[in-house]
Amino acid sequence: MNQDWGYGINKDRQIDFDRNDRRLAEYIRKYVPSYKLCISCGACTATCSTANLTDFYNIRRLNIFLMRGEIDEIAKHIDKCMFCGKCELVCPRGVNTRQVILIMKEGIKKIKQNEQL
Ligand code: SF4
Ligand code: SF4
Repeated sequence: MNQDWGYGINKDRQIDFDRNDRRLAEYIRKYVPSYKLCISCGACTATCSTANLTDFYNIRRLNIFLMRGEIDEIAKHIDKCMFCGKCELVCPRGVNTRQVILIMKEGIKKIKQNEQL
């Protein structure tokens, strides 16, 4: 007999990072070792003209999508980067952010073409 208690169990919304698609993140780590030093301070995003002038694009957000393996979301916005290099100048950890974006684009292209990363 089904009893209506007035409440139910919601679908689990937690993100299991171990199950995410990490191919692109690993690819970037391999070719831009300084990426491992990022502490997510947000200085790159604060100084980025594109982040200030567009609704969605910013490196920190791209990084979150990267960790979640949401490659399609990154692909939608990554072309907004102008490769001006301001983000790289202010990074306190010396992350080569421009190279990160470049390798990210390359990795996305390979994934879309079903190539091995
Ligand atoms: S400024 Fe450097 S350390 Fe800070 S979030 Fe950007 S890449 Fe990471
Ligand atoms: S290189 Fe790209 S991400 Fe970095 S500050 Fe310039 S537009 Fe922003």
